[in-house]
Amino acid sequence: MKPDSIYRGCPVCRRESARPYLQKGGLHIVQCRRCGMVFANPASAEYVSGAYYAEAGSSYYLLEAKLESDYADVRFERELRLFRRFAQCGAVLDVGCSSGAFLYQLQRRFGSDYQVLGTDVSGPPLDFAEKKGVAVIRGDFPEHDFGDRRFDAITFWAVLEHLADPGRFLDKAKSLLKAEGLVFVLVPNFRSLATRLLGVRYRYIYPQHLNYFTRETLSHLVEPRFTVVKCAQTHFNPIVIWQDWRNRGRTISNQERAKLLQKTTAYKQRKGLAPVRLVYRLAEKGLSGLGLADNLVMVLRNRRGEGR
Ligand SMILES: [Zn+2]
Repeated sequence: MKPDSIYRGCPVCRRESARPYLQKGGLHIVQCRRCGMVFANPASAEYVSGAYYAEAGSSYYLLEAKLESDYADVRFERELRLFRRFAQCGAVLDVGCSSGAFLYQLQRRFGSDYQVLGTDVSGPPLDFAEKKGVAVIRGDFPEHDFGDRRFDAITFWAVLEHLADPGRFLDKAKSLLKAEGLVFVLVPNFRSLATRLLGVRYRYIYPQHLNYFTRETLSHLVEPRFTVVKCAQTHFNPIVIWQDWRNRGRTISNQERAKLLQKTTAYKQRKGLAPVRLVYRLAEKGLSGLGLADNLVMVLRNRRGEGR
């Protein structure tokens, strides 16, 4: 065992029996024999501890291209629409808030309806969030003492796939929810068209992603804690599929990821591309219906009487 590697049980059912599933360079991905969850094992210590996001990784979230795309009006439009549909007001906590773009948009658009707070391990992006007027708490979320503060909604946008023990984060979220409070989860869909077409070539099969959820395994993770109010699929990026197909699994640098995000965001906003966007939306809708879109989203409700 390498000193910087950490072996772990299944992040969903905790069983320690898994079979090899796929390998990409030094990344070993296994499948739980009991529940079918697919996860990285071993995982690099810097991702397990969060040190990567506190140090080296934080620069990615501050790249000009990344910030520009995260703070673009279209970036969180799907998440905002979903959020607004289920949570019209109240105290909101965004776990893994990075540079604070989701909360910034929530505040900017519906200011007086919400009291927002973000949390992350990543220092410099949190400084940026604060500059944008987003209140933050720094450090390891499960360890933080929130006193008697409770929330109407807690969001995990693209966070659970990065965590060695996502159940620990969900337990903490549950303890902080008001009765009938909501949790919003978005994770990459391991049954997406991109994953099926590209396999290990897909850029999102990489060391930062410790967990690879399907609708079934995500349900197994959340159902002991919450009632699933809504389960859907969203997003589709044909440019990523095209690029990764041609790249044949070559490692994509953070700079390249940010550049592509910037490019995709520009396409989403350019006026002359409205007909292309219509075709794109239809494709996204069709793929979502077939269970093949890029991300899984779930809205979860704390069970009556279990909140504080
Ligand atoms: Zn399992």
